[in-house]
Amino acid sequence: MTTTSPIDLLGARPAAYIDGAWGGAGAKPLAVVDPATEETLIELAGANVDDARRAVEAAARAQVQWAAKAPRERAETLRRVYEILKRDRERFGRLIVLENGKALKEAIAEVDYSAEFFRWYSEEAVRIGGTIGTAPGGSARMIVTRQPVGLALLITPWNLPLAMGARKVAPALGAGCAVLLKPASLTPLSSLALAAVCEEAGVPAGVVNVLPTTETGRVVEAIMADDRVRKLSFTGSTEVGRGLLAAASKSVMNCSMELGGNAPFIVFGDADIDAAVAGAMIAKMRHNGEACTAANRFYVHAAVAAEFSHKLAERMRALKVGNGLDDGVEVGPMVDAATRDKVAELVGAAVGHGARVHTGGEAPAGRGYFYTPTVLGSVAPDSPILDEEIFGPVAPVVEFEDVDWMVGAANNTIHGLTAYVYTRDLALALRTAERLESGMVGINRGIVSDPAAPFGGVKQSGIGREGGHEGILDYTETKYIAADW
Ligand code: NAP
Repeated sequence: MTTTSPIDLLGARPAAYIDGAWGGAGAKPLAVVDPATEETLIELAGANVDDARRAVEAAARAQVQWAAKAPRERAETLRRVYEILKRDRERFGRLIVLENGKALKEAIAEVDYSAEFFRWYSEEAVRIGGTIGTAPGGSARMIVTRQPVGLALLITPWNLPLAMGARKVAPALGAGCAVLLKPASLTPLSSLALAAVCEEAGVPAGVVNVLPTTETGRVVEAIMADDRVRKLSFTGSTEVGRGLLAAASKSVMNCSMELGGNAPFIVFGDADIDAAVAGAMIAKMRHNGEACTAANRFYVHAAVAAEFSHKLAERMRALKVGNGLDDGVEVGPMVDAATRDKVAELVGAAVGHGARVHTGGEAPAGRGYFYTPTVLGSVAPDSPILDEEIFGPVAPVVEFEDVDWMVGAANNTIHGLTAYVYTRDLALALRTAERLESGMVGINRGIVSDPAAPFGGVKQSGIGREGGHEGILDYTETKYIAADW
């Protein structure tokens, strides 16, 4: 194990966090690699199956006491987490860059976004509410109340190493649930540092447990085999999500799923093209293009496609690519070689199908998993790049003239997370938004995410919502009490 630790600075240790202590019997060490240098940053003592069972025991005990606390007390603890994250935003940002690769500005924005979930759910924790009414027949009162769903397993991806955990931990704690957080193996450090923040904020031992591991399948299986675990909240690929839903059926576990996306970005002929290009840069390039909300397919009206592609290519070409910690860098490396190689493969196949490279289209030689920001024009509608999540800095542009054809093409995917529409005609924008099969639509905006709004997908992009009031209700069960008095 290396002695210098980038997470020491944030009060965490390179090991699992179970029942308020750092350690673990130890599976094989988990190496965390800096994607900009390909060097190992640190090796963690990963959790094994025994650690996972110990964490379930601890969390099951802590669950009872945490759920019994006054909502105000839970709320104030969450508020302290928010304040600590804001205090440490720069250091957290650097940690995210080290393990994920994104540019520092993006990483700090992720810390702020994460902190907002704790602020928002500190406010929602005291407003969970319920109803009381009279039965239609008049014979009984109907009391409907909300209770914590119980012990929750949270599994998160690598693309937003802090925010994807924060978006689950904050509402779970607010609702009165204890959690077992299993971060992605590529990026476990931010979750460990979040555990240290929770400890500093006064979250009691056992309420938050973090289990990085090299034995993902076995550890998750051991946790899910315990009937006391009542909730699974997963963010990751649709493929892994399907498998987890099948596993959760054994104990009829309450599931929330935030899965893959394939967002269409639609530009009508009357759109403000400069605004659409500015929005496209955000929708495409946030988090290096490695976002589930990333614009994946650009449907641009034929009358403005040339202007849009030209201006977008100019902006993409001007982006500074490099180590996310270096001054002025706007795009960092992909998270690993496999992600970069998949991007290169999709671009290669699109070009093979007749696409034209306006800019980019290369993986530069040398160290680091870099891929140059790319714009592709004349992309064939049957090109595989339109079917798959690119998860990289590549914008394929498809021209359209017929609106019905375009909406049909936009909906022709198993996914349905986010869509973007640019037009000056608000009625057209709203009509299109209603026709698009997606959980979220941005109108004349390149970003939809907000902790106060319900984030989530339809079709195979997921089940349930994170953020908004819905996000805390996802960690509760409805209880109906029929009463006569
Ligand atoms: P992934 O491969 O599905 O992994 C996500 C998490 O699941 C990781 O912690 C991973 O652990 C774990 N996992 C993998 N195989 C597992 C198994 N058999 N049993 C239990 N857990 C397992 O996804 P990813 O590559 O990290 O993330 C990218 C995907 O996440 C994209 O599809 C993206 O769209 C999606 N995403 C969706 C949202 C949303 O809100 N809808 C947000 C962000 C990302 P290991 O790392 O140890 O394998």
